[in-house]
Parts: sequence; C-alpha cells; structure tokens
Amino acid sequence: MATETQLMPVEAPATGRTIDEVAVAGAAEVAELAARARTAQVAWRERSFRERTAVLDAARRWLARNADRMRETICRETGKTDDDAQLEIAVALQSFAFWSKRSERYLAEERFRTWAPMVLGRKVTVRYDPYGLVGVIGPWNYPLVNAFCDCVPALMAGNAVLLKPSEVTPLTALLTAEMLAESGMPEGVFTVVNGGRETGEAVVDAVDYVMFTGSTATGQAVMRRAADTVTPVSLELGGKDAMIVCADANLERAANAAAFSALCNSGQVCISVERIYVEDAIYDRFVARLGEIVQGLRQGEAGGPGSVEVGAITHPPQIEIIERHVRDALDKGARAVTGGARRSGPGRFFEPTVLADVDHSMSCMTEETFGPTIPVMRVADVDEAIRLANDSPYGLQGSVFTSDAAKGEAIARRMECGAVCVNDALVNYMVFDAPMGGWKTSGIGSRHGAGGIRKYCRTQTILGTGPQLKRDVHHFPYSPRVSKLLAGFVGRLYGR
Ligand code: NAD
Repeated sequence: MATETQLMPVEAPATGRTIDEVAVAGAAEVAELAARARTAQVAWRERSFRERTAVLDAARRWLARNADRMRETICRETGKTDDDAQLEIAVALQSFAFWSKRSERYLAEERFRTWAPMVLGRKVTVRYDPYGLVGVIGPWNYPLVNAFCDCVPALMAGNAVLLKPSEVTPLTALLTAEMLAESGMPEGVFTVVNGGRETGEAVVDAVDYVMFTGSTATGQAVMRRAADTVTPVSLELGGKDAMIVCADANLERAANAAAFSALCNSGQVCISVERIYVEDAIYDRFVARLGEIVQGLRQGEAGGPGSVEVGAITHPPQIEIIERHVRDALDKGARAVTGGARRSGPGRFFEPTVLADVDHSMSCMTEETFGPTIPVMRVADVDEAIRLANDSPYGLQGSVFTSDAAKGEAIARRMECGAVCVNDALVNYMVFDAPMGGWKTSGIGSRHGAGGIRKYCRTQTILGTGPQLKRDVHHFPYSPRVSKLLAGFVGRLYGR
C-alpha cells in the first residue's frame, strides 16, 4: 500500500497568507535518497575540479539570469525586503565565484619531506578525500546564503549533498534544486529534503558529515545525535553581537552602521548588532542620532528594490521573543526612543526599535533577540564596554568604532568572538578568504577560507618508502644494546 504524502504549508509572513504547500520527506524517504546520493557521488568525485567547476559556473550564470525570480521567492517566504534578498543573491553569486576559483588550490595535495628522526627525509603526502555524503541543515533567515551556499564547497570537494532547509522557507531551496538540475548537475548529487525536526534528524543519521546552521539549542541536539554514529559536525549557531562605540568615534558613521547592522533583514541575522555599548561622553548624542535615523525608516511588504528598509518577522515564535525582550526592558526602566511595539494589521511586523538606558539585568542585553531592536547601554569607559561585551555565552562577532585604527584593533583582540570589524559590522561575511565561525556557544568550526572546504574532506597521509633494509633498527627482536643506544640517542636529541 502506498503511503500518503504529507504536505506542509508555506506562509508569506508579510501578508499572513498561505502561498504554497510542499511534500515532507519522512525518515524512510531520506534514507532512500541518501542511498541514491551515495551512488551518484561515486562518479561526481571522479570528475576533475575543472568539470565540477563547469557545473557550478553554469549555476552561477543561471542565478544571475534568474535573479528576479529568486528574489521574489525569497521575499515571499521570508517577508524580507527586496534589498535584503538582493544582498543574499549577491553573496551567493560571490560564493559560486569564490569556490570555483579557490577549491582546487585549497584541496591540493601537500607534499613534503619529514624531519621526524626515525623516518628522516621520507616523502609525505597529505591528501583530501571527500567524506561522501554531506547533510546541510539550514535556518529560515537566509534560505539562500545560510543553507544553499554551504553546499557549494561541499559539492566542489566531490561530495553529494542532502540539503534540509528550514520548514519555514522550503521554496528557495526547491528553486536551487531546479537551478542545479538545469545547470548540468548529475541526478542524485544534490537533493533537497523538506520537513521539520524529524527530517533533520533523519539527515543527521544518514550522512557522513553535518553542516548545521541554526539555534544553539538545536545545534546541541544535532551534535548529541551525531555522536551516536561519530559523525563530524560543523555548527554555525546563535549570537548576541556587541558593538562598542568609543568617545572618539565618527558618530555619524557609527549611528548609520548601527542602524543598518542591527535592522537589516529585520534584525534576523546571526551576526546582526544585538547590543551597543557607548562611552559616556557621546552616549546622549549617539542615542539621539540613532533614534532619528531609525524613526525615518520605512517598514512593510517588499514592493520592489528601494521601497522599504525593514521587512517582516519570518518565523511566528520569533515575534513573541522580540516582544518579551522589549517589554522586559521597559518594565525594568529602559526607554523606547522610537518603536517598541508589534504593528497591527496583516502580516507579522515589529516596529524598528531603539531602547536606551538598558543594562545587563534585561534579557534584551543577554539573550538573542533576532529582531529589529537596538538596545544601547551607557558605559564609563572602554574597559567596561569590553567586560560587558564578553559577559555572554555567545561569541559570534563584534564591532568597534573609533577614529584610532590601532586602538580599534587592540580592542578587537580583547573581544571574545570569532570576528571583529573595526568601524564596520557584518561585512566581514563577504571576506570569503577568511574563516567565519563562532566562539563559545556560537559554534564549532567555520565556513569560508581553506577550512571552509577542507572540513568536507577526510585527510589521508601517505608515507612514502624509505631505504629497503632487510631489518630496521627498531624491529624485533629487542636487545639491551640497541635499546640503550636508542635511549641515549633520544636523550641527546631532546634532553639539551
Ligand atoms: P533552528 O535551530 O530552529 O532550526 C534550524 C534547522 O534545524 C531547521 O532546518 C530545523 O528544521 C532543523 N532542526 C530542528 N530540530 C532539529 C533536530 N533535532 N535535528 C536536526 N535538525 C533539526 O534555527 P532557526 O530558528 O531556523 O534559525 C535561527 C537561528 O539560527 C538563530 O539562532 C540564528 O542566530 C542562527 N543562525 C546562525 C548563523 C551562523 O552563521 N552562525 C546563520 C544564520 C542563523
């Protein structure tokens, strides 16, 4: 008897309407698709880098040609603005271009002569071998960049991929499957499996490597489950990124960067600015200017590029968290300089909000809000700002604003997080040649850079042949004379 296909609805957050339904892949189907992917991977890994690059280059051109369709799909299912979606597409195009150019170099075999005394001078080769089947599990905030783009280096390395997008945003992933199919990707090498937690768990069970992006709590569950099969994981998790504004900062730039970095994508960015510490001397002026900028922003459904700055809240439970954090801050004495409430009417919107006079007794300063809110705290000096910035279980990114570049870099080195921008925020995500990953509970491993593709491979070390003696000095049988000789040699070598 055929099993009935389970369907899940897709909602447009900006209107509240159901716009589509997609089929859910159950555990048995995931296992079946994984087996098909493993078969397809055998031929894919045998292709040269040049051949794999040709497919992904064709996909890049497909995306450039179909950018409007991709943008509309992303906007519809996330509720983000056209410009936020356009940024995703720009990053995705850059991702294709970057991995086409660098993959072969990053995965080139390393050859050297070893200095290890017992095998001195022997030839060593270290090679990168694709794991086989990679599972990419993604969140809803950037369905193209934080889900599909992590598949690109996995594919370039010669793996097959199962992509499990968020159940909130399956349509973008389905469009990427269409993109790759039309770009010459062999059947079975790239597969989208839709569904929620159970589908995600089935992916973890079925693959050889898990690339997970999402909340810290889910990342922990993924890691626990992967432990059962000793499957390696890379985790890109939540954040509570701090911005430090020094008294000598260019105030206008700092305020503009704060507004953009906290509110783009409605603040639903893992690396968005979630809290700001401003030195006392410029605190009042900074808050006033930031309030003015944020008050002038337009919010609403995407209506074409340049039409609105702030979009909807994609995931229903998220607006409850945002509301709880704002209410908690106001109850404890914070001041809403602008915004502060959920907007009524169709769709799911929260007003762009600046909260002043906040402190660490408030959840808006200690828990991930993931919404269009900017809490700003007054600090006595830079030391207090750094202490508070580091007073967090998260350690994804940070930023510091000062007119003294050397001082900015010195502050950056004292911040406990995976990346820090000086006089900027967010944009380090575009630096594809440097690692991007979190410290503390913000993750394990990183994307981008050499590590961003090597992680999808196992290393194999091949030790070349040495002189063909009949018997080496350390071979059996042991003798007191040789043992003494070797012990003396080791003592002389390392005992000095
Ligand atoms: P989430 O953790 O709720 O879900 C992420 C994905 O995991 C979804 O596809 C979901 O279906 C799946 N999933 C849920 N339970 C699972 C399980 N037990 N096993 C396997 N898969 C499971 O996260 P979200 O709400 O979609 O995304 C928002 C979070 O993602 C925020 O915390 C944000 O900071 C984080 N994020 C981090 C980065 C980064 O690069 N560090 C980037 C984007 C988003």
